[in-house]
Amino acid sequence: MVDTANPGGAAPALLAPGRLLIDGAWVDAADGATLTAFNPATGAPAAVVAEAGPEDVDRAVRAARAAFDEGPWTRMQPAARERLLLRLADLIEAEAGEIARIETLNQGKPLSISKGDAARGAATFRYFAGWITKAGGRTLPVSPPNGHAPLVYTRPEPVGVVAQIIPWNFPFAMACRMLAPALAAGCCVVLKPAEQTPLTALLLGELLVKAGIPAGVVNILPGHGRRAGEALVRHAGVDKIAFIGSTAVGKQIAAVAGAQMKRVSLELGGKNPAIAFADADPRKVAAWAANAIFFNAGQVCTSASRLYVHDAVYEPVMEALVELAGRLVVAPGNEPTAAMGPLVSRDHLARVSGYVDQAREAGARLLAGGGRPGALPAGTEDGYFFAPTIFCDVPESARLLREEVFGPVLAVSRWSDEGQVIAAANDTQYGLAAGMFTQRLATAHKAAAALKAGIVWVNAFNILDPSAPFGGMKQSGIGRDLGEEGLLEYLETKTVWVDLDQ
Ligand code: NAD
Repeated sequence: MVDTANPGGAAPALLAPGRLLIDGAWVDAADGATLTAFNPATGAPAAVVAEAGPEDVDRAVRAARAAFDEGPWTRMQPAARERLLLRLADLIEAEAGEIARIETLNQGKPLSISKGDAARGAATFRYFAGWITKAGGRTLPVSPPNGHAPLVYTRPEPVGVVAQIIPWNFPFAMACRMLAPALAAGCCVVLKPAEQTPLTALLLGELLVKAGIPAGVVNILPGHGRRAGEALVRHAGVDKIAFIGSTAVGKQIAAVAGAQMKRVSLELGGKNPAIAFADADPRKVAAWAANAIFFNAGQVCTSASRLYVHDAVYEPVMEALVELAGRLVVAPGNEPTAAMGPLVSRDHLARVSGYVDQAREAGARLLAGGGRPGALPAGTEDGYFFAPTIFCDVPESARLLREEVFGPVLAVSRWSDEGQVIAAANDTQYGLAAGMFTQRLATAHKAAAALKAGIVWVNAFNILDPSAPFGGMKQSGIGRDLGEEGLLEYLETKTVWVDLDQ
């Protein structure tokens, strides 16, 4: 890797390869192509790494295929595979500081979040390592018409070679969230990180090699979606595609998967509602709501971008919320005081700004933010910063109410009728997450059942755990990550009939 942030200096030791990981070796792209990763806080290049093209994809899929069909991974004893994933989790923890530093350099998020992402990555590998020695089949009490009493049992078997494609908002945590269940199931993987954020996936590759994961079991290919991504999705050697990203790209991938009858799981976008009921504590609502939209600069698929506040608590909630937005420290992620960093890229900054301009033109009332924050340190003039932004009175026609902005931009609505607010919350093509704030048990459980979302939080938002299934309804995706459901996405069920009366 060329460390352009530190010209002439040594590249970070662990990132030395900066190349593609194919069949256990670090190699340049077949055509010598490279891509530049930027530092979102300054807009300056951070590093240059190899960029995979179709030929590299082909080599990586072949390596994964060979590792799956002939290699040791599927034949290894479950306890031995478990030990390898636990060793990997230990290595992630040992390198958490470096992982966090690189994540912040390339993604922009505050170091505190990057550290949490590294810890989450290790926890995810530990959680799925545990399943390896526990996920077994069943014997089934069948009653066949011939009166025999056969032995019928199921065998969970790995799906095979998996193409995994991830976005740029949690590059390290997403790579772990994808790889851990696939490896626990016994699959072999080609992972493509987002073109904006390749660095911590390469770092994870270093740790996989160091942990002793056999060659070809995990291949890592930084590259562009339209080039490496499409080649990977279409490759005949791939049995399953696991994708985290936008609904638009998810639909294209689903179409290819359908035509080729590949297994597919999709974690897509969201336009997630949070509802404050009349009995909610206004200060707690404001604190949770601010965190739910401004955490990771709103670049979270489960962020609460629509907040519905009951008439009875509207004024105090808004007062506290606007105050919190004004006080939030927006700064480069490596500043110790930073609560919110820049957006990930120049393109994304333009996209978020476009939604805000359109909402203003449509007549929405701006209560906070709306552009570049005022107080930023010198050297960040070309960084991709956007202030925590709150709108109210957003007209139905504004795209802000319907489309995923994926930035720190909140639309607040006032309500008084419970039936209407649930209908408004559900009036979206998405169905990823939803939340509510109330002390009344009956209200909470009724609303939890009525909200059309894969995840519902009560008096909380955006809390995850490796053991809790994660995923969406409607156009927010197909399938679930994490939890037992996340493991099952990488297993096929084989049913074996043995007639014992022959
Ligand atoms: P994106 O869909 O543009 O890109 C995601 C990944 O897909 C990248 O690696 C990209 O290179 C690749 N890609 C792009 N076009 C491709 C193609 N034609 N074929 C194959 N691969 C292709 O999304 P993004 O803008 O990078 O990420 C933001 C989106 O991701 C948001 O919509 C967000 O909601 C979603 N997301 C969802 C979850 C979830 O778990 N539901 C989590 C994080 C992000």
